[in-house]
Amino acid sequence: GGRTFSGVKPTGHLTLGNHLGAVRGWAERDQYRTESLFCVVDLHALTVEHDPARVRRLSRQAATVLLAAGLDPERCTLFVQSHVDEHTRLSYLLECTATDGELRRMVQYKEKGARARAAGEGVRLSLLTYPVLMAADILAYETDEVPVGEDQTQHVELTRDLAVRFNQRYGHTFTVPRATRPPVAARVRDLQDPGSKMGKSGAEAGPGVVFVLDEPDVVRRKVMRAVTDSGTEVRYDRAAGPGVANLLEVLAACTGGEPAALASSYSSYGALKRDVAEAVVELLRPLRARHAELAADPGHVDQVLREGAERARAVARQVVDRAYRAVGLLPRG
Ligand code: ATP
Ligand code: MG
Repeated sequence: GGRTFSGVKPTGHLTLGNHLGAVRGWAERDQYRTESLFCVVDLHALTVEHDPARVRRLSRQAATVLLAAGLDPERCTLFVQSHVDEHTRLSYLLECTATDGELRRMVQYKEKGARARAAGEGVRLSLLTYPVLMAADILAYETDEVPVGEDQTQHVELTRDLAVRFNQRYGHTFTVPRATRPPVAARVRDLQDPGSKMGKSGAEAGPGVVFVLDEPDVVRRKVMRAVTDSGTEVRYDRAAGPGVANLLEVLAACTGGEPAALASSYSSYGALKRDVAEAVVELLRPLRARHAELAADPGHVDQVLREGAERARAVARQVVDRAYRAVGLLPRG
């Protein structure tokens, strides 16, 4: 039972981190267990410098990749955030619930804001308020579970705080959601910079990022060139050897093993990398094949998104109308 909501931003091509940290669980687990909604959160892509044509292209591509990963429109609702006005309607009420101090504390705001400043760009106000819109995305659907990677934990915590505060002030209106994460690979590291997470946007997306649509040989090359640690022994130790630990986690996620147990079956980094490369290539093979089929029929994807938006709107409208009444706004005649 219960309801699941989660999303991806069309800021770049989907990565192995997005897949292992979030999308795969939606396709293999969540849509079978709960009433699930998955969203291409396009408004969030406008919080940093963006190219309109690219956002449009990446939005359709993200939806296509999610279907290729196994989201079944018969089992879940797949839609685009900007197609359902209730998200921005609710976001305003939550801006009246959040404080500027709590938003300035968000790690992603600090990191992405610093990056924009370093590039000589202004920091968009929406970069500060983005976690409030994300809270609206979640709360508009009376969501119980939010399956996300580790980097989103802080934003889901904020969402919970806002829901509780709103309910206390105005009477019970929102379900208080909780974040869920995969047992392993909730934070896949950049293969070239294991101190940072693998990210799809901006300058992060270098040779240490594996994209789910990469050709098998490209995946192999990126994995074989992964930065490892200065030792030679294969051990699972995140602090002392983050590069090797990352490879072990990816292998564990692909093969269903345990990172520490897998470590003991390798005596060289080369052998480990070869197995990781093949495991990732095999994991992504059906996704790539299905993506090629779906990409040949964009009309189908558009129709899935149209129907998804209709279903999502029907749910969100009731919740958001209730919230509007609760804060004291006069109901529309
Ligand atoms: P951006 O750099 O634009 O924020 P992103 O790669 O972080 O891109 P998002 O659309 O923000 O992608 O996140 C989509 C989902 O993927 C979220 O649930 C997020 O937690 C998860 N995710 C992102 N990167 C990783 C990662 N390296 N490991 C595990 N999960 C991840
Ligand atoms: Mg992100």
